[in-house]
Amino acid sequence: MPSCDRRSFLATSGTALLSVACVPSMLPRRADHDLVIRNGTLFDGTGADGRELDLAISGGRIAEIGPRLAARGREEIDARGLAVAPGFIDIHSHGDGSLTQDPRAESVIRQGVTTIVGGVDGSSRATGSLDKPFSAYFAEVDRLHPGPNVASMVGLGSVRGTVIGEADRPATPDEIRQMTAMVERALSDGACGTSSGLEYVPSAFASLDELIALSRPNASRHLPYATHMRNEDDRLLEAIDESLAVARGAGCPLQVSHLKAQGPRNFSKIDVVFKRISDARAAGVEAAWDWYPYVAYSTGLTNLFPVWSRDGGNAAFLVRLDDASIAPRIKQEALAKVELIGGWDNVQISSVRAVEDRDAEGKRLGAHARAVGIDPYDDAVNLLRRSKGSVGMLGFAMNEETLERILAHPLTTICSDGSAFAVDGPTRRGSPHPRGAGTFPRVLGHYVRERKVISLAEAIKKMTSTSAARVHLADRGRLAPRFAADVVVFDPARIADTSTFESPFQYPVGVSVVIVNGAVTLRDGQRSATGSGIALRATS
Ligand SMILES: [Zn+2]
Repeated sequence: MPSCDRRSFLATSGTALLSVACVPSMLPRRADHDLVIRNGTLFDGTGADGRELDLAISGGRIAEIGPRLAARGREEIDARGLAVAPGFIDIHSHGDGSLTQDPRAESVIRQGVTTIVGGVDGSSRATGSLDKPFSAYFAEVDRLHPGPNVASMVGLGSVRGTVIGEADRPATPDEIRQMTAMVERALSDGACGTSSGLEYVPSAFASLDELIALSRPNASRHLPYATHMRNEDDRLLEAIDESLAVARGAGCPLQVSHLKAQGPRNFSKIDVVFKRISDARAAGVEAAWDWYPYVAYSTGLTNLFPVWSRDGGNAAFLVRLDDASIAPRIKQEALAKVELIGGWDNVQISSVRAVEDRDAEGKRLGAHARAVGIDPYDDAVNLLRRSKGSVGMLGFAMNEETLERILAHPLTTICSDGSAFAVDGPTRRGSPHPRGAGTFPRVLGHYVRERKVISLAEAIKKMTSTSAARVHLADRGRLAPRFAADVVVFDPARIADTSTFESPFQYPVGVSVVIVNGAVTLRDGQRSATGSGIALRATS
């Protein structure tokens, strides 16, 4: 267990360690606990107001909470003037994608996030097949000693890709049986629900019946079907209806991933979404959603192109772009999508695979095309060709007013939808969406402190206990005796994101201490030498 003397800290930024003191007990008697956090304002994660309480941690668990605890800690942290909250749970994260390259998940930890839920958008690293079981994946996560804990859904796109490949065709009854068995195994191993990514290949090729069949194993465990819906703009309402139909048919809860309305003509539809979901809830479907606090989304540039043109995957897509008999139709549909979000200057290139196009990263596509001196559609196609389809983009398609309305809704939980990156090391590449480093501090700083959209206690609840309940992480998301000791200490008066669309590689400010499974992972900008995150299995 952590202590000042036994746990080493990377001394990368001078003497900042002093401002939150790490004081080994001076008393001759043995310490009662591994760690005691004193004098902070404690928010327990349930939405209750903060109270001045001390918190003691032993053996990776919360041992005691109370006013002015007499017990001593081997290590003590003075949190006077600071908020003490359950470590944040990111219920929709792509941070699992880079853990083998950099298990620190620095941009995740520095937001105060102690658990990420991966395997989202239909894509998971394990599939529940015999050669890629979740048990092996979870063992691999444990071996990595990642910064945060890692839970994972089973991605229905990955399952389909394993059994059927990337072709646009219905599954046969036998394939449905095989895929359902994989999901069943994944959930038995501890996956925390099913996920789909219905704008992506091959998840998009699943019919309603297939989605229902594959999410039915959720029902007895009460785990959610989480969906990146088939559409988030002109057909947003149809997509909501389909998502509800899956949950209704499968008999499981629904978690709509990163709820949003893209394109000005669709902003007002959010009220209809709220209404449809509350009606469904009244009729017994346990439906809810998550959300991230930015006006731009992030995806692959291929996503601007119709899903039928991506049948078979990237290679087949690139061939179709050269096929004179269908290329004009592909272009027409792509241009309609770009127009919907306000033109090529609302598309920003976030990553390319082709080295010769690195200068495009971080640039708006319209501006890049003007600089190159070609038509922006041709520019986009050329970038895709040279990177073999692997081009990332940000789409500036949402507005602040709708963002705030979604945040204020009681059914909203906070997610980043972001990747994990660092200012140093192998994950510093491209120009990623700032949500990967800014989401949770942005909610607490901008939307809570400055805009006062919701209270601090309510925001913390949306980042902790509500998320834990949706994916069945039974001993996480609250500060209470016997709960796992995932804790964040931050300054509510100062916490803020600093990562921007122009300059994403910046960590937030105002997060003082992050504790994962009882071990201090971050203290005043100093990282522990190794992470203490583990794989988390959903409890059924
Ligand atoms: Zn998504």
